[in-house]
Amino acid sequence: MTKLGNYIAGNWITGDGDGQLLYNAVTGEAIASATTKGIDFNKALEYGRKRGNPALRKMTFHERGRMLKALAAHLLAQKEKFYSISYLTGATKADSWVDIEGGIGNLFSNASLRRKFPDLPYCTDGEPVPLSKNGNFMAHHLLVPKEGVAVHINAFNFPVWGMLEKCAVNWLAGMPAMVKPATITSYLTEAVVKEIISSGILPEGALQLICGNAGDILDHVQSQDVVTFTGSASTGLLLKSNKQILAENIPFNMEADSLNCIVLGEDVKPGMPEWDIFLKEVRKEMTVKAGQKCTAIRRIFVPENKIEDVSIALGKALSQTVIGNPLNEKVRMGSLAGQTQRTEVKERVQKLLAVSQIIYGSLDSVELIDADINKGAFISPLLLLSETPFANNEPHEIEAFGPVATIMPYKNMDEAIELSKKGKGSLCSSIVTANKTIAMQYVLGSATHHGRILILNNDCAKESTGHGSPLPMLIHGGPGRAGGGEEMGGIRGVKHYMQRVAVQGSPTSITAVTQVYQQYAKGNTDIVHPFKKYYEELNIGDQLVTDKRIITSKDIDEFAALSGDHFYAHDKKTDFTGTMFEQQVAHGYLMMSIAAGLFVDSYEKNPVLLNYGIDELRFTKPVYPDAKVYVRFTCKEKIPNDKKIIDKPEDFKKGDDIEKGIVKWLVEILDESDDPVIGIATILTMVKKKG
Ligand code: NAP
Repeated sequence: MTKLGNYIAGNWITGDGDGQLLYNAVTGEAIASATTKGIDFNKALEYGRKRGNPALRKMTFHERGRMLKALAAHLLAQKEKFYSISYLTGATKADSWVDIEGGIGNLFSNASLRRKFPDLPYCTDGEPVPLSKNGNFMAHHLLVPKEGVAVHINAFNFPVWGMLEKCAVNWLAGMPAMVKPATITSYLTEAVVKEIISSGILPEGALQLICGNAGDILDHVQSQDVVTFTGSASTGLLLKSNKQILAENIPFNMEADSLNCIVLGEDVKPGMPEWDIFLKEVRKEMTVKAGQKCTAIRRIFVPENKIEDVSIALGKALSQTVIGNPLNEKVRMGSLAGQTQRTEVKERVQKLLAVSQIIYGSLDSVELIDADINKGAFISPLLLLSETPFANNEPHEIEAFGPVATIMPYKNMDEAIELSKKGKGSLCSSIVTANKTIAMQYVLGSATHHGRILILNNDCAKESTGHGSPLPMLIHGGPGRAGGGEEMGGIRGVKHYMQRVAVQGSPTSITAVTQVYQQYAKGNTDIVHPFKKYYEELNIGDQLVTDKRIITSKDIDEFAALSGDHFYAHDKKTDFTGTMFEQQVAHGYLMMSIAAGLFVDSYEKNPVLLNYGIDELRFTKPVYPDAKVYVRFTCKEKIPNDKKIIDKPEDFKKGDDIEKGIVKWLVEILDESDDPVIGIATILTMVKKKG
């Protein structure tokens, strides 16, 4: 029997003894065994901290992002190997796509996220905080990668996605990972990790894997580590109460089971497109991955006068699902991950049946193609009806982790909201409605109890990613019963693996630390115009103080004529009594244009390729004719850019291959008064690299 490998401290090792047998979920044959017996978890964690962590934390976000991209491309090229193993878990091709390509997609998505970060190992968080009257004392929040290991304890249902959605984020943040997949499907995770390690793309120590029992690993975690858990609420509670986790205040992110719901809006009737959209969504959520999704719909709330119609229509829809061996192309629903899971689902359904009845499916039989119910972990989709949802808590508390959901009636929107909250916190909820008011009522009424809410109707159904899909750019997690955790969510997720520190000091010190120019910091004024410098030659704080220029009434008149902006404040004939202004005032955009006229190095070609836009622009006081203005123009931030400027092949030669970066500039428009700032902007230019 093949024994699964554990990848520990740079070596593939098999644990001592025979280990736990793992089975093909479709045929029931034993395929491998897994054990972690004999592994020194303390040493393994120390290896991650001492070897993987320093290697990753010294890389910049952009280097880590490019590493993720290379890894994603490498794994994608190997995907067929993963699909062939994934079938053994009972997953159909479509189920496996979610797991395998969904997981790889997470790597790609986080790779692109690098562009939201500086080309540094750390970053700022939020806005600078001014702390003094004269501008000499301030603060900024900084995020630095934690010095520990991210320990991920995962559930069995997504052996690939479950690992990659978490690791993509901790690697981008600069932390190594130790992954512990649920044992029963760990053979698929092991296959992916083998490819990751042999690719050599990650620095050594960035990833360790344990296939089998977690042993005493949590007794050795330390305050710089992060633990994430995905699984059942009961295991989660046990792990989060671990003495070491509590004593060292170790961040513990929990994603637990939840009783997700869908609401059919009162406006939706048979014949409307939303009626069919609702039926399709429920059927999909019940049968994809044979209902073994943490986000799957477990509770279906329907206006009481439509219960019968919905029950019949859903039963009909479910009856069209072909069930059996996932290798058969006709099959739309495979098996559960194992016999233990099937036994558990049946036990949970029995408990639900104390307050409900089966209206579609059977606990004992199911029609299969190419499969044997006595060997594989197959189960029929089960649609239950509970007519008294306020009187009984079972449908709101018991998760049967399979193709099982319960229909329940509601009288009005208040009731639908109250019922949705009876799950005491879920990962996601959907409402199907074509009515804006109903959508708004539901979202605002129930938002406190769900991590994500989908408003589904004909406008978005074709492009909707669906009720059950967590997306890398949106947070995934939910309050209360759902674990109270949060992961992914783009930049938000990365922050879970970084330590936030408030740094106080002068603008010059804060500029040096953050590598972002802070207003009032000392600038470097040299004789070379910053536009004459290549990307590599520019330094944060390079500054130009321009000549002065007088603003005339004629300038304002001419700008009004040219732009067509004849707002009364720009017209010298206006009676200014009772207005905010004393006399004719210059257009803000005139001031910005004049500023550009002052700071642009005009007549020669230079490394600045183009003006990329404006991030922020504020006009802080009115400018009247005869004001003498000038600009302080400072290099604020540099961001590498490897995006193609031109995507048409015929234009390739014109600039696609130009190496470049984005430079942000702080533009302060000033006059000669004591309170000199008239306007402030951050503008962006694309600047050529010397190469
Ligand atoms: P589980 O039994 O709670 O196990 C989850 C993980 O915890 C497994 O890796 C398991 O390892 C490990 N574990 C169990 N006892 C442990 C202990 N004493 N010390 C350390 N680790 C321990 O859950 P599951 O059956 O794998 O997954 C199904 C559940 O996960 C469902 O309830 C589902 O709703 C939930 N889920 C939630 C999400 C989410 O994002 N919220 C996602 C997927 C699944 P072994 O396999 O070795 O026992």
